[in-house]
Amino acid sequence: MTTAAHHPYFQIQPVLLSLHDKTPLIACAAAELQWQISADEGFDTDSLGTFSRDIPRLATQQQTALHKAKLACQRNQVRFGLGSEGSVQLDPQTGLLPIGVEMVVFYDAQLDLAVTGIAQGPSPLQRWVLRDETALQQRIATLQLPAQQYVLFAGELTDGSHTAPVAKGIASVQQLQDLCAPLWPNGAVTLETDYRAHACPARRPLIEAAARDLISRLQSQCPQCQAVDFSIRQKKSGLPCAACHAPTPQVKAWVRQCQACGFAQDEPVATSMADPQYCPFCNP
Ligand SMILES: [Zn+2]
Ligand SMILES: [Zn+2]
Repeated sequence: MTTAAHHPYFQIQPVLLSLHDKTPLIACAAAELQWQISADEGFDTDSLGTFSRDIPRLATQQQTALHKAKLACQRNQVRFGLGSEGSVQLDPQTGLLPIGVEMVVFYDAQLDLAVTGIAQGPSPLQRWVLRDETALQQRIATLQLPAQQYVLFAGELTDGSHTAPVAKGIASVQQLQDLCAPLWPNGAVTLETDYRAHACPARRPLIEAAARDLISRLQSQCPQCQAVDFSIRQKKSGLPCAACHAPTPQVKAWVRQCQACGFAQDEPVATSMADPQYCPFCNP
């Protein structure tokens, strides 16, 4: 690892393709490399897919973020582009809680090199079906207006439905009531968290964490060829059991690998012995 001033991406001026005010989040994470990030707000990134169901996202989250970073380079005739994309998935452990996954992709057009930063955490995404004005009033008391904004749909929405919302970016009680009023005669409405970064403050720390992950990957350079993103890509299990010294399924070392030259380096875990509870012989 070199000092920041000698880093190949020190004081660069990347362009971020975003409509949603993410620049300060990434700039904050990239402070040590002294990036001057400018935002390209001329492209409707929502056309690549939205959370509010009107436009389904066709590519994967990583492909979409990379596409945005490449577009930033092409549209602005610059070498360095940034793209960011979020998603909400059900927690693979419980299958119940929504987990927010944020990605920030850096693209170097000259080297055709992409590096992806990732962070995940509890998602602020919520949805309520409201059947009448009383239900709306009760719900309003729990909303975090105006900092958190909301999306309104006519009717009862389920997972995976693709319907255009009545309105996005609802930021006041009055606005919400006015929009709902003509909908009650037709039945229920569905209210959902507006997940766009500028409308959803709870999402912003996660985007910043993804940007920090990106910067730490860029700052981790291959000792052999100096390429960036010398990152952990594999693990080795077999940490010896503290009681009988037999190898256990516990991780013994993480393996950093360079994708440019193939150089690999083991990074042993902090503990040298595994708890016998993980041992296939002591605790079969
Ligand atoms: Zn290398
Ligand atoms: Zn053992």
